[in-house]
Amino acid sequence: MGIFTEQPHLFINGQATAPADGFFDVINPATGAVFAQAPQASLGQLDEAVAGAQKALPAWGALSYAERGAVLLDIAAAIEARSAELAKLITLEQGKPLAVAEGEVQGTLAWIRYTAAQDLPVEVLEDSPHKRIELHRKPIGVVGSITPWNWPVMIATWHIFPALQCGNAVINKPSELTPLSTLLLAQIISDHVPAGVFSVVCGAGALGGAMSGHKGIDKIVFTGSTATGQKIMVSAAETLKKLTLELGGNDAAIVLPDANVAEIAPKIFATAFINGGQTCAAIKRLYVHQDLVAPLSQALADIAKQQIVGPGLDPSTTFGPVQNKAQYDKVKGLIDAAVAAGGEILSGAQTFTEPGYYIQPTVVVNVDDHHSVVTEEQFGPVLPVLAYTDIDDAIQRANALSVGLGASVWGSDMAIMHQVADQLEAGTVWLNNHAELAPHAPFGGWKLSGIGVEFGLDGLKANTIVQTKQISR
Ligand code: NAD
Repeated sequence: MGIFTEQPHLFINGQATAPADGFFDVINPATGAVFAQAPQASLGQLDEAVAGAQKALPAWGALSYAERGAVLLDIAAAIEARSAELAKLITLEQGKPLAVAEGEVQGTLAWIRYTAAQDLPVEVLEDSPHKRIELHRKPIGVVGSITPWNWPVMIATWHIFPALQCGNAVINKPSELTPLSTLLLAQIISDHVPAGVFSVVCGAGALGGAMSGHKGIDKIVFTGSTATGQKIMVSAAETLKKLTLELGGNDAAIVLPDANVAEIAPKIFATAFINGGQTCAAIKRLYVHQDLVAPLSQALADIAKQQIVGPGLDPSTTFGPVQNKAQYDKVKGLIDAAVAAGGEILSGAQTFTEPGYYIQPTVVVNVDDHHSVVTEEQFGPVLPVLAYTDIDDAIQRANALSVGLGASVWGSDMAIMHQVADQLEAGTVWLNNHAELAPHAPFGGWKLSGIGVEFGLDGLKANTIVQTKQISR
């Protein structure tokens, strides 16, 4: 697809399809300027995709996991062959440095290949002289996938491939802010699966709303903000869709007094500022024992100052722009509000270089738990460092918010770290790490961070519906 030279297509029922509702602009966050156009799907085209998906379901669902897995492996090979093009597109529309975009594509390949080997065989629950009871897992049907702008290809992969592997048909709607890399992914998938098994429709929230209320869609898997997840749940109620919701977080990390500052500082920086802080399970609140606040926040600030903030395609860049203007304004506003309330920025003065959406990684001290930079999910390059003296107080403050995606404990004494970890209210708790995900480790949020999990066998099962077969003898 000549994505830089011509207007790209939707992929509906295996066909490259011109959009019925024209095109919309895609902005390069490194320049703040429009660099491409994306196709706007109409509601009629969504209906076409749903009808095609329903038609394709019986044959696709009848294949074995091994047969569908073979298709997934072919798709992975085809993505690998175009990985340089895909990574460049991610950087152009998302902003992240090219090396990080290449990592996103590599992660995508690893996830697809892991998923291709997964299987959910029939379970025998009873096999007695009088009775046999079997548990079968059937495809749910048509799965609608709605994805965000931070890791566009990786998160689409997490939605699409487990659903396909279980025999579902999938319709994906990428974020209107980062549709192009998903369109390239969609083209590759469309080349390899039977017509109707996969379609992509592009558009903003209204199209996502139409998907979550659509009578022909049986499940929605959504990754994005809690506010949008709540709207999806409301509009999915009438058709009682199955839901997997991976929503916002505001992850706390607790640093114990016996932590080794020199060892943990680079890891804390990397996992707080991963993807410019635009990661659901990044560290967003750092609770540090009073004795370590000064050395650790200074060590983090020193790493922040070493970053080369610039366009993602520049090979010297280590830190890209924020993805969009609204998020840029939000993060700048949180930093300004923290400073106005007495917060101190240790990481040096900002040198804003608009029109690109650049914000230098920012370490803030002297703020308390009530400041907006702590209570709101920043989803950008700012990290508040908060002091504690009593560990029970730190745990209570870490758990005080209504979200619970991830959390972490950093220190040297594993027994104490486990005691702390066991009290944290989050779907994933890391010890001496954060933000690392694995295809075999279920991941999901507690409280307002979501419903259900992705990854591992538990994540795979969420793409199926249980049918119990009772055989009398
Ligand atoms: P968002 O909720 O604004 O948008 C996500 C997607 O939802 C987009 O495709 C958008 O077009 C669509 N959408 C918007 N309104 C809709 C509606 N009413 N009905 C259906 N779809 C609608 O989120 P975002 O700003 O793109 O992403 C950032 C958020 O995502 C952050 O809160 C972050 O924590 C969260 N996130 C969570 C995870 C996780 O796994 N828990 C992973 C990544 C991002």
